[in-house]
Amino acid sequence: MHCNIHKYTKRRVSSKRQRPTASPSFDKQDLAFNFWNMNPTTRNPTRSVQIGRTTIGGDNPVAVQSMAATRTQDTEATIRQLRLLAEAGADVIRVAVDSKKDVEALAQIAPTVDVPLSVDLQENYRLVSSVAPHVEKIRYNPGHLYHHEKNKLVADKVAFIADEAAKHDCALRVGVNCGSVDPAQAERFPAEDSISPMIASALEHCELLDRLGFTRYCVSLKDSDPAKVIAANTRFAQQRPDVPLHLGVTEAGMPPEGVIKTRIAFEQLISAGIGDTIRVSLTLPFDDKGEEVKVGRQILDDIYSGRFRSVPKLLPAGLNIISCPSCSRVENEAFIDLAHQVRELTEYARDHQITIAVMGCRVNGPGETDDADLGLWCAPNFVNLKRGPQLIGQFPYDEVLDVLKEQVDELIAAS
Ligand code: SF4
Repeated sequence: MHCNIHKYTKRRVSSKRQRPTASPSFDKQDLAFNFWNMNPTTRNPTRSVQIGRTTIGGDNPVAVQSMAATRTQDTEATIRQLRLLAEAGADVIRVAVDSKKDVEALAQIAPTVDVPLSVDLQENYRLVSSVAPHVEKIRYNPGHLYHHEKNKLVADKVAFIADEAAKHDCALRVGVNCGSVDPAQAERFPAEDSISPMIASALEHCELLDRLGFTRYCVSLKDSDPAKVIAANTRFAQQRPDVPLHLGVTEAGMPPEGVIKTRIAFEQLISAGIGDTIRVSLTLPFDDKGEEVKVGRQILDDIYSGRFRSVPKLLPAGLNIISCPSCSRVENEAFIDLAHQVRELTEYARDHQITIAVMGCRVNGPGETDDADLGLWCAPNFVNLKRGPQLIGQFPYDEVLDVLKEQVDELIAAS
């Protein structure tokens, strides 16, 4: 082993380029209508982890990350890409590094941008020594530590990575991925259970780092299925509420489907107080990559404003009015006014545990209102009013509020 328990308790200062300290992260306080302030949810008490000028965890705003999609050795294109992502507001940007030539390119690229950079170690974990001097964060995948130097203990490889990270003032991410989970962990669980090996692997590596005294790390548990992302992160957060989580749905695909998948996972997790940094992974042309950051911020903005695409399972106590973020599928713009009117009308019920969902169209409205106590989904000329999955009736826009109030009164009387 290279390390001992006290070795990383002091922050080491490296000679790498200094970046500005102000973070452009989304500020919850800026919202006119702030769902979060009205319905404060306790965020998991994670520790703060500094990634250059960006700090995640604790009370820090949820940071938005992205990744350069260009070939790293094409330094001109990669610098252009990093600038584009920085302008879009990325808090941390990942650059792909797979070879020594990529490292040489990284050394040229890094000084040209002032956003913290991150690199994924692939199978060659020893690359950490040449990468760490140029970046603020390094991700390693526990499932990739088996491929090289098979006779060497994984614990020793982790110690080597932590040593290099500490030496060069870097944070670490333990990045567990459904597609490349540690085979030793996969063997311990039934083949149909893909979530438990991911969690076990993440917990094992947290323990390895903790034992080394290296606490400047976060964890990610990614899958392409948003339901699995929700389950894995929820279970991990219950066991390690102190560890900051990087949320993401891997291989989410192209917009709009990729955005919807990601949104559903983030809505459920962030509304439950889970998640310290996010990445929206979308298949986009290089020049449109800034959309990943914009979409990430939009999803956060929507969650904090009470605009949900799905009904979160864990909502704060009291009345919760949620409305979809709206999109081109909205069939009657009166939906927007209706969402505001529902909020005003039901203000008197604010201390009652009731969730009301207002959705803008027939595509997702019928299904997404099932989980609310009362749901309104808007058709072109009328509004469908539901109680749970049951349709109460279809009402003109100017009549539905009276019926809604009767329903709210009934729920209050029954509670
Ligand atoms: S419910 Fe319909 S209108 Fe609202 S965001 Fe979803 S698809 Fe768009």
